[in-house]
Amino acid sequence: MSSGALPVFTFEPNTAPVAAEERAQRLIGPAFGRVFTDHMAVIRYSEDKGWHDARITARGSVQMDPASSVLHYAQEIFEGLKAYSRPDGGAALFRPDANARRFNASARRMAMPELPEALFLESIRALVRTDAAWIPQDEDGALYLRPFMFASEVFLGVKPSAEYLYMVIASSVGAYFKGGAPSVSLWVTREYTRAAPGGTGAAKCGGNYATSLIAQAEAIRNGCDQVVFLDAVERRYVEELGGMNIFFVFEDGSMLTPPLTGTILPGITRDSILTLARDLGITVREELYSLEQWRADAESGRLTEAFACGTAAVVTPIGSVKSAEGGFTIGGQSAGPLTQRIRSSLVDIQRGKAADPYGWIQ
Ligand code: PMP
Repeated sequence: MSSGALPVFTFEPNTAPVAAEERAQRLIGPAFGRVFTDHMAVIRYSEDKGWHDARITARGSVQMDPASSVLHYAQEIFEGLKAYSRPDGGAALFRPDANARRFNASARRMAMPELPEALFLESIRALVRTDAAWIPQDEDGALYLRPFMFASEVFLGVKPSAEYLYMVIASSVGAYFKGGAPSVSLWVTREYTRAAPGGTGAAKCGGNYATSLIAQAEAIRNGCDQVVFLDAVERRYVEELGGMNIFFVFEDGSMLTPPLTGTILPGITRDSILTLARDLGITVREELYSLEQWRADAESGRLTEAFACGTAAVVTPIGSVKSAEGGFTIGGQSAGPLTQRIRSSLVDIQRGKAADPYGWIQ
């Protein structure tokens, strides 16, 4: 890769942006991931030039050769983060530097070039500045940013691509689960696993999601909202959901979340909750937790709450769990007191309603 100065973004405004009235219409209760803004960020990479040709340009389709290697060998990674509107009228990003670092960890795992953190951050800031009018102003609304990178070399040999395209698109979103944060029901899949030791579980690569879809379909067939995966070796320990990490709350007021063993995604919400909980004086353990124990604790009342967490759905209570062996419920069906406390501590920082002693907001 060539060294030296980072490319500077050029700006090519969209000459036919969505009209203000139409945009206002689209911002009313948008379904997740269906409403897109007027622009996108693009940066190219090639082995000889390094990162170059950085642009904020009109959102549009990408022309690809059918032999582009991502279409065959799936060298693709992505991120997800949100820009929130602030009470003072500005916009705020939540821990974008953490997304930049995770993006590069994913890149290393997938034999892709790392993107300098400053370029990742500038691509996001420039796009948010350009499309700030697309940030929903309502309480659950945000601008969801989707940075991604894929192999674009035209070559059918199996090897790391020599060329990549990095892009950021933005989508105006409302609450992930319709109706705010009701409890979700989980299906424990016995048939499928998400990630094996040595695999790509800790990377945010498209392939992880492709393999989770059949398990999510199994969950829906069994009348559940989301799938929860067990570890691939013993098929015993709870790992995470298809797109969220998981926390357990006990009657003594302590919490537990599965450790980062390399097979689960190191969620930024998970990490933030660990910090918040510890600063609230809550004991949190990062330990393996088996399905068997989960069921026993739910039935004995030792487990009082459980919740899933991630950028899209924030903090969502888990009301019931079902597997081939039968089901069980957890505490009440709505958010328990600790789940609510954690959720509001986090959301209040994200939305500028509480002080941010951690420097998470930019
Ligand atoms: N696990 C998986 C598999 C995910 O896709 C996500 C969403 N990025 C999460 C956990 C939560 O991560 P974060 O809190 O960074 O959104």
